Amino acid sequence: MASITLKNLVKKYGDGFPAVNDVSLDIADGEFIILVGPSGCGKSTLLRMIVGLEDITSGDLLINGVRVNDKAPRDRNLAMVFQNYALYPHLTVYENIAFPLRLNKGKYKEEEVRKLVTDAAATLELTDHLDRKPANLSGGQRQRVAMGRAIVRQADAFLFDEPLSNLDAKLRGQMRAEIAQMQRRLATTSVYVTHDQTEAMTLGDRVAVLKKGVLQQVASPRELYEQPINLFVAGFIGSPSMNFLPATLENGVLKTSVGDIHIPEDKAAKAAGKKVVLVGIRPEFFEDASLVEESKRHHGSTFTAPITHTEWLGNEQYGYIHFDPTPEVRELLDNLARDMDADELRPQVVVTLDAASRIRGGRDAELWLDTRKVHLFDPETGENLT
Ligand code: ATP
Repeated sequence: MASITLKNLVKKYGDGFPAVNDVSLDIADGEFIILVGPSGCGKSTLLRMIVGLEDITSGDLLINGVRVNDKAPRDRNLAMVFQNYALYPHLTVYENIAFPLRLNKGKYKEEEVRKLVTDAAATLELTDHLDRKPANLSGGQRQRVAMGRAIVRQADAFLFDEPLSNLDAKLRGQMRAEIAQMQRRLATTSVYVTHDQTEAMTLGDRVAVLKKGVLQQVASPRELYEQPINLFVAGFIGSPSMNFLPATLENGVLKTSVGDIHIPEDKAAKAAGKKVVLVGIRPEFFEDASLVEESKRHHGSTFTAPITHTEWLGNEQYGYIHFDPTPEVRELLDNLARDMDADELRPQVVVTLDAASRIRGGRDAELWLDTRKVHLFDPETGENLT
């Protein structure tokens, strides 16, 4: 097994903008790390640099402390698991798993091959399927065969390039669970690339968020969700997304397009000196005020807002508040959309409501907001001030 160290890695294609820009990251032995970000952020390029399919323009790549920049892919002893699993349809499961061993002609005796393949199959619960062809396997089993190949090679680390992106939502969910269990069982260092934030949040020990080739934050899923370092991470992680409301801060009161929000003094102090801030509020920070226990109320702020419409999802509801932005607010939202690589940010706030809430669209509603949780961002730098 292996630790992988990235030191100031840069990748430039031609003389263009760097696809990977000064990325440094320590991946511990046995760790499961996710590289996530929107299309074009450089995550696949970074993975391909690690495995050796892409030259490194500058910086150092170390495996177990040894610099491997100039080593050929086959000498790095890393195993890549691809999107389509790259299984051979005419070979049995046994032969598919044995394949990497047979490439090294003569290196493994037939008995050794048998032992490695049957051991891997046992670990992956494929023993009963060794005689089948890939066409007769479920998606999950195919994924395990692909993992089996990586295991028999006794690779130091597994590298996954969006392995689930071709699957339908249900299968993706199952496979996600399988990969997570397998990785924990094998405890092999793994680097997993995805643009899917659910995969990022559920699979990894840590998640590295990339934007335009630059590493934004590396943290546990929980920390990323609760303490996003900047607007980009805050907006990228979480569904529905965090709401961003431009606001002026006057004596501890945030004046926003949907009303005044009183925030705790310690939060206000962190944004002292800023005239304008972007308030970041996750939908679940709101509640239907009529359902909030008395003992909890003083931790937050209650205000009235016009609910445009609601969506009932069975276990919860979403309420939408649309507002008319002033030109200044519109400009801030447009800047933010550019920063997030989004087409536009609608002047709206999404709130999560309990399934029991009687709040309905077309009326004013009393909402309670847990003001201890709100984030304040610097609109200029995007930094989370709180
Ligand atoms: P996606 O999720 O769409 O695959 P990504 O985050 O994996 O995106 P990369 O494929 O790593 O992003 O690409 C990062 C940037 O490098 C993009 O701007 C892309 O256009 C550019 N790029 C990637 N490969 C090449 C190449 N061979 N030549 C030139 N530019 C490239």
